[in-house]
Amino acid sequence: MPGATIIWDAHACFPLRFDADLSDLQRYKQAGIHYTSINVGMDYNSIEEVLRVIANFRYWIAQHASDYILVQSTADISDAVANNKMALSFDLEGSVPLMNDLHMVSCFYNLGVKQMLLAYNADNSAAGGCWGKDNLGLSHFGCELVQEMNRVGMVLDLSHMSVAASFDAIDISTQPVVFSHSNPKSLADHPRNITDEQIEACAKTGGVIGINGIGRFLGNNDTSTQRVVEHIDYVVNLVGDEHVGIGLDYQIDIDELLAYKKAHPEIYPPEDSAVEPRYVAPEQFPEIIVELRARHYSEIAIANIMGENFLRIAKQVWQ
Ligand SMILES: [Zn+2]
Repeated sequence: MPGATIIWDAHACFPLRFDADLSDLQRYKQAGIHYTSINVGMDYNSIEEVLRVIANFRYWIAQHASDYILVQSTADISDAVANNKMALSFDLEGSVPLMNDLHMVSCFYNLGVKQMLLAYNADNSAAGGCWGKDNLGLSHFGCELVQEMNRVGMVLDLSHMSVAASFDAIDISTQPVVFSHSNPKSLADHPRNITDEQIEACAKTGGVIGINGIGRFLGNNDTSTQRVVEHIDYVVNLVGDEHVGIGLDYQIDIDELLAYKKAHPEIYPPEDSAVEPRYVAPEQFPEIIVELRARHYSEIAIANIMGENFLRIAKQVWQ
């Protein structure tokens, strides 16, 4: 289909359960999405929990091999698209599950984790989080982690990190970096959103900013397709269509998320959790293309935004 050679969602949240059920991926597939990165854990998950989630997700995907494939290379993505399968990989939100061990980067990478952010909202041993204290940058371990991710081919994701940590990581990384699911603060002033300077610095690495579909981060809890495209438009005007993508951050199980939020006030400030959770649905992906066309985006620009940009990052970074 012109304008959508590959449709890519850089971050999706399925229930982190040991009896994995990823059958809601059908909604993504039916919406025409070719590739999704599935979260397998956050900073408050233990290494044991993350490994069990990965094992169970891998098993589920293998049991549904006629529709889905866990990719190890970008050639696998092309094969998946050619064979009408959905391509999947995993991402980690935070580096605590690595237990300060650099060798875990390649271990997780080989298990399918292709993208990781260093700190999830709160500060940790590697980096400051966006809700941490004193805008901490990267620690010595955090710097080593960036170098190891570059070496192994894991995409460095700066979403959820402090401003200082994101700039430190950009300075050190020899590869393009991404904000897989973060919106411009200029359109919605929220601690999870990012400044124009962060957007520009990310783009300068050759990186991509994935627009997030959570209502609080879009502003006024507005999850309309028009609002998503306003965010796309803003970042395109700032850094160009080669640096914008989509990381919808859709939550399949909102009750699970609410339970996490209640259990971890140190990571999710209660005042933020008080807002009714609203999400842009995967079914809105085709509407985004329609809206971009209505705004006279070229077919090349639409293809870039819908997936080619994130595919370019994978081709450059994955080993
Ligand atoms: Zn997130």
